[in-house]
Amino acid sequence: MKTAFIYTDDFAKFKYSDTHPLKPFRLKLTYELIKSYNLHVLKDSLFVIPKYAEEKDVLKVHTRDYIDVLKALNSGVDVPYSIQFGLGYGDNPIFNGLFDWSMLVAGATLEATKLVLDGKVDLSFNISGGLHHALPNRASGFCYINDIAVAIKYLIDSGKRVAYIDIDAHHGDGVQHIFYNTDRVLKISIHETGYYLFPGTGFVEEMGENDGYGYTINVPLPPYSDDDVFHYAFDRVVAECINRFKPDIIIAQLGVDTLYDDPLAHLNYSIYGFAKAVKKILDFKIPLIALGGGGYDIACVARAWTVAWAIMNNVEINSKIPQEYLKNYAKYGFEDDNIFGKQYSLVDEQKKKLLKVVDKEIEIIYEKIIPHIKDRKL
Ligand SMILES: [Zn+2]
Repeated sequence: MKTAFIYTDDFAKFKYSDTHPLKPFRLKLTYELIKSYNLHVLKDSLFVIPKYAEEKDVLKVHTRDYIDVLKALNSGVDVPYSIQFGLGYGDNPIFNGLFDWSMLVAGATLEATKLVLDGKVDLSFNISGGLHHALPNRASGFCYINDIAVAIKYLIDSGKRVAYIDIDAHHGDGVQHIFYNTDRVLKISIHETGYYLFPGTGFVEEMGENDGYGYTINVPLPPYSDDDVFHYAFDRVVAECINRFKPDIIIAQLGVDTLYDDPLAHLNYSIYGFAKAVKKILDFKIPLIALGGGGYDIACVARAWTVAWAIMNNVEINSKIPQEYLKNYAKYGFEDDNIFGKQYSLVDEQKKKLLKVVDKEIEIIYEKIIPHIKDRKL
């Protein structure tokens, strides 16, 4: 299998703010860990430096006036009306290079997309991508340009059927919104319930509209869900939907703010559980565009996405992080030298309770959504 990793050190040049939880530096931390395992010099794998996205591609998803405001904010200085576009406070600050950052990430995701679409590789991984909250005319949840939607639009315009699988702790609301009315994209999001976590959506009742009815599947999980609860939901729902829909390409958002160390969400996955999900997505044997996503404990992010990249290349790695890497980067939060970290598991009684909640959601999905998913109409 041929693979491609899309990366440039330029990602790490950008900074939302000193205190903002999304740190582009985590991408360099990941890349350096990948390098320390020699996973950047594999025989069947390309390392590709991304280009900036072109405006014509992002304008297929975003409005002209929104893109113009982002462009005007690239200097880091505020402009009138930015607040109307969700910009300039809290989650979505104005910082120097904001537009460049967003276009570089979108360009990297498009590069990942074209490599798979053109058959040059079977799988591509852009760890900078996965900014699933951005809306056509609004920044949201640390996301300014929705690189995923830009890629999906490119794929459907090329005649492809796309399945989107989002395993970030947060609901993939931006992608859902943009493709809510179409049956050309199957959208599956497994996330912490919107009752307790941003963006407050992603309930099972959101099933799509018009032609898109039955092509949006949300599996909200209760807080504290662990690997077993996540995989129970994943196994019951994802394969059934993918097998019915028969996509040409899968695009996966592999956010790791689901890990128990993450400071923003309340899920308890381990890197073992995350890695198992990556493996299951690969086992569909469908061309795959893999993207990053959330992840706010930056050492965990580096560990999880390095493990994911190893799995994508079918390489078994030593669980001990190379000493040379730790010498330089241990200060960023590596508690020990085990790349997998600890496995967390709820006590049986608690697990049973959570599984019962999830079962109810899955019942609704089987009754009301899955029968609508149809194979391609030719
Ligand atoms: Zn997230």
